[in-house]
Amino acid sequence: MGETGRKEEFFALSPCRPVAPSPYRPQMLSLRVKLTLYYLAILSAILLLFGIAIFTYLSRSLLMTIDESLAYQVKTIESHFMMNTDVDVSSLGDQNNEQLLELKPHLLQVIDDNWQIRDEIALPNDRLLVDKNELQRLEVGKPDFKTVKLPNGKLVRVATLRAKDQEGSGTYFIRLGHSIEALSNARRRALIVLGVAIPLALLLGSYGGLLLANQALKPVDRMTRAAEQIATGDLTERVDAPAKMDEIGRLAATFNHMISRLQAAFERQKQFTSDASHELRTPLAVMRGDIEITLRRERTAEEYKRALTSNLEEIVRLSRLVEDLLTLARADSGRLELRCEPINLTELCEQMVEYITPLAAQREQILTYDSPRRPVRVMADTHRIKQLLLNLLDNAIKYTEPRRQITLGVKTEKHNAVITVADTGRGIPAEDLPHIFERFYRRSGKTSDRSATGFGLGLSIVKWIVDAHGGKIEAESEMGSGTTFTVKLPLLDA
Ligand code: ADP
Repeated sequence: MGETGRKEEFFALSPCRPVAPSPYRPQMLSLRVKLTLYYLAILSAILLLFGIAIFTYLSRSLLMTIDESLAYQVKTIESHFMMNTDVDVSSLGDQNNEQLLELKPHLLQVIDDNWQIRDEIALPNDRLLVDKNELQRLEVGKPDFKTVKLPNGKLVRVATLRAKDQEGSGTYFIRLGHSIEALSNARRRALIVLGVAIPLALLLGSYGGLLLANQALKPVDRMTRAAEQIATGDLTERVDAPAKMDEIGRLAATFNHMISRLQAAFERQKQFTSDASHELRTPLAVMRGDIEITLRRERTAEEYKRALTSNLEEIVRLSRLVEDLLTLARADSGRLELRCEPINLTELCEQMVEYITPLAAQREQILTYDSPRRPVRVMADTHRIKQLLLNLLDNAIKYTEPRRQITLGVKTEKHNAVITVADTGRGIPAEDLPHIFERFYRRSGKTSDRSATGFGLGLSIVKWIVDAHGGKIEAESEMGSGTTFTVKLPLLDA
């Protein structure tokens, strides 16, 4: 045997089997980091959009203010020209032109309709050339604005107004330019502020996001630790459910519910295995004892026959037990498939009554069949429904004293076919009634006749058959008066 084989055997046999390591491995990127990163990505996008919007709005509104001021100024100059024919541009800044004193333009040009600069204020490097095509397109009285880079590199906002001359026959152009250095400075400052504020907000945001994610995932961490404890095999452990029924609260409650069900199933499984082994051991022990006693000395043929007959009885009981166990085990694992077909219950019950009558007759019991006059059709597995009827009728016969009445009835009720098996036997005590469908549940010490007692699996199988057909079963009983089992199965026509 190789090293691995030996190790496996050790683990399998060792009473202190080491607990398998938890399959949980921390991820490269934990959920909290992922959440923070998502949060940061969304925050960055929002802040960036917000920054772009603020910056654009600021630039536009500053430019609009400049344009409004330029429009006002260029119109003022136009009206000034209208009133004073002999005014020249250089006189616009004179003391007596109070209205225009505050203009202090960077450049001012008056261009006649021959595209010649008639008058201008501008330093040699600040001169703006005349673009005939551009001026030609302008409408009279409507100032046009544009940003121009002068030969000296300065950025100037220029307003050009096409105005009518005094006679009203021709037009000329007034061009007024103001430096937009202040605007550029304001934009630069805004950029600096945004450039500092956005990363700072992102830094604070990511810290806040991490704190939030930590806070939100704390209960998940606690649940993971509890789940790891449960995974080691301690099914009694439960996760701390937060008092609030939020998402985490619901997850914890669902998880606890799942573990409770798992624990119950596990307990049932353990109970089932232990009960089954116990049930198998008793008949085997009886058979072994019988055989050992018989073999102690020479016996007569009659004695051997008696021993063998007694053993055969036990073997029959054992076979029934194994058969029942197999049925339930297959049902549990979902391997027991129903072969459903339309069946007529009226007819099937009649067959079953015929089949079981000899057994009832042995105990001098009166078995009657309360048959409906018409067929009652259900979609069901014939073999399983026969098994159901046989188990219920067999119990009725078993637990009813001789010469008493047993009635099998079939009828329809709304959308259901209703089968009743009513006996007039000893009844089931109220405290036993909720448990009779549990596996291996029997009322103990009821009879000394071993063959009269079953294994407590018959009703579990009946319950499984009813459930598998989408039906319902109920038991009513009164001590000393009898027991009635009522099975409801969906009608085929419904
Ligand atoms: P068993 O093989 O022991 O009959 P069942 O699962 O069929 O197992 O029944 C479980 C228990 O329910 C029985 O041990 C018996 O005590 C009780 N029981 C079932 N049917 C009847 C009945 N018709 N009258 C009285 N007791 C019943």
